[in-house]
Amino acid sequence: MRLVLMGPPGAGKGTQAKRLAETFGLLHLSSGDIFRAERAAGSELGGKLAEYMDAGELVPDEIVVEVMARAMTRDGSQQGLLLDGFPRTVAQAEALDAELARADKPLDGVLVITADDDEIVGRITGRRSCPDCGRVYHIRFMPPTSDEQCDDCGTKLVQREDDVESVVRQRLENYKRQTEPVIRYYRERSEAPVKEVDGNPPPDAVTESLADVVREISSSGEAKA
Ligand SMILES: [Zn+2]
Repeated sequence: MRLVLMGPPGAGKGTQAKRLAETFGLLHLSSGDIFRAERAAGSELGGKLAEYMDAGELVPDEIVVEVMARAMTRDGSQQGLLLDGFPRTVAQAEALDAELARADKPLDGVLVITADDDEIVGRITGRRSCPDCGRVYHIRFMPPTSDEQCDDCGTKLVQREDDVESVVRQRLENYKRQTEPVIRYYRERSEAPVKEVDGNPPPDAVTESLADVVREISSSGEAKA
């Protein structure tokens, strides 16, 4: 079974991907993790990646596809794939379809976690951490006993600069602008069914919904070994 998992920042996609991969015995390929590993390995491709990433630029599609295509042939890929963070553009989606068609192993489904912007903003802007001991809090879900102070060491908690509302809203806009064409591509031009899963409930409930969808895909007879 080969699946793509998409979702906005702050919707818990990384956590859900790990859980799904474990439950269904899929090789979890996170583009972020793979890029970091490729860089750390110091390969020629890793060097190219580093140039773009350090400059804060988007990595060109052909490099992304090359790195991910290589990762997809890794040990463990026989049991199935869960792609996370890839494809991010229509060109990448087309290249992925071509790659999988060549191997006669087409995608079985595209899972899209959806969540309300306000819910995501609330989750992300509520994060706090202790600059001294690193303990993590959330003003709504996991508040410290005393206001804005670390329970362990009494240090005043801080919010990451990236976690303020204006930055989060901008990231959500970027996500939509980037992924909407990709989702449209899958709906209109690809064989793989697109399944949306509500990401607003607590993480365990989202995991359940995702697992139900994967079971449905796998038992629909569409899933190929
Ligand atoms: Zn602390």
